[in-house]
Amino acid sequence: MKITFPHMGNTYIAVKAMLEDLGLEVIVPPKCSKRTLELGTKYSPESICLPLKINIGNYIESIERGADTILITGSCGPCRFGFYSVIEKEILKDLGYDIDIIVFDPPDGNYKEFINRITKAVNTNNPIKILKSFNRGRIILKEVDRLFQFSNKKRAYAVNSYEVDKIMQKFSEGVLKVKGVIETKKLIKRIFKELEKIEVDNTKRPLKVGIVGEIYTVIEPYVNLDIERKLGHMGVLVDKFLTPSRWVEHNLTLGHLGLSEERKAWKAAKPYIRTLVGGHGRETVGSAIMYAEKGYDGVIQLLPFTCMPEIVAETILKTVAKDYDIPILTLIVDELTGEAGYVTRLEAFVDLLKRRKEERKFERVLSRS
Ligand code: SF4
Repeated sequence: MKITFPHMGNTYIAVKAMLEDLGLEVIVPPKCSKRTLELGTKYSPESICLPLKINIGNYIESIERGADTILITGSCGPCRFGFYSVIEKEILKDLGYDIDIIVFDPPDGNYKEFINRITKAVNTNNPIKILKSFNRGRIILKEVDRLFQFSNKKRAYAVNSYEVDKIMQKFSEGVLKVKGVIETKKLIKRIFKELEKIEVDNTKRPLKVGIVGEIYTVIEPYVNLDIERKLGHMGVLVDKFLTPSRWVEHNLTLGHLGLSEERKAWKAAKPYIRTLVGGHGRETVGSAIMYAEKGYDGVIQLLPFTCMPEIVAETILKTVAKDYDIPILTLIVDELTGEAGYVTRLEAFVDLLKRRKEERKFERVLSRS
């Protein structure tokens, strides 16, 4: 079995390490690129949301490298994601690919079925081995998220923010050369140390911006045009509400105890939206409120064109922005999004936040005198 999976930000690092530890041959799709998008757009329904198009491109590029089995996460919510695996199977079948697709829906109480799927995917029914590998994968996922969060912080404070990019590029290249959890962990540790050495200017007071929205767009840098890096170079400290480790935490561990960050977001969103609207629409509203309450300077909502849950959230965010007096920028991406226009909107938003911060500082000084 040669196993592959779609790209979703940095999840490939943990999934690769975990599957390698289980003795499986892993085919990591090439990083998402113009070719990935072109392939996906060519073979997917025109009106389907962008993540499915990129997934199709990822699969084709992995199949070209010999993959015969695809792992994908599923959902049962009222949006298109619940149909992804079915549509994707049909598209690949129409293209003549004979490929096995294993879907991991969140267990939602049915752990037996969940374990059955894992057993099929990892080619072993030894529960201890599976649980150990899962736990190690979970730790890697968390460490990678922590590393990227640290790199965001470094970028905002670094004397030369491009040094961060050089080190993170080294990490992206290195991660494909190491095998299994132990080697991946060592690499993460080494990169942490290198980032720590970067010279910072602690007198900087960076703007703080929270990124919310559709999970795929929030965590996949190709789709969000590397928004974290772009904002970091503009001197912004970025925090993403949705990360792969939070998804795991919510769906497989703490969420069932009511303790995950997503649960907190549901609670925060309650005065505006009480029910599930699919995807992460409710979390988008709740997390924007949480960022406002934590004193962030602004929020950016990211969504792919035609994403239904985020369109619902977008309408509510207008009221949230007024009620909490926080600027919220909505950015919609699709296969035609141009980088120049996107950067212009980001720059304009950052300028607005800077001006606002200065004005507030000035008002505080005046009120004291
Ligand atoms: S959340 Fe939005 S982008 Fe994701 S599958 Fe649902 S409709 Fe599509």
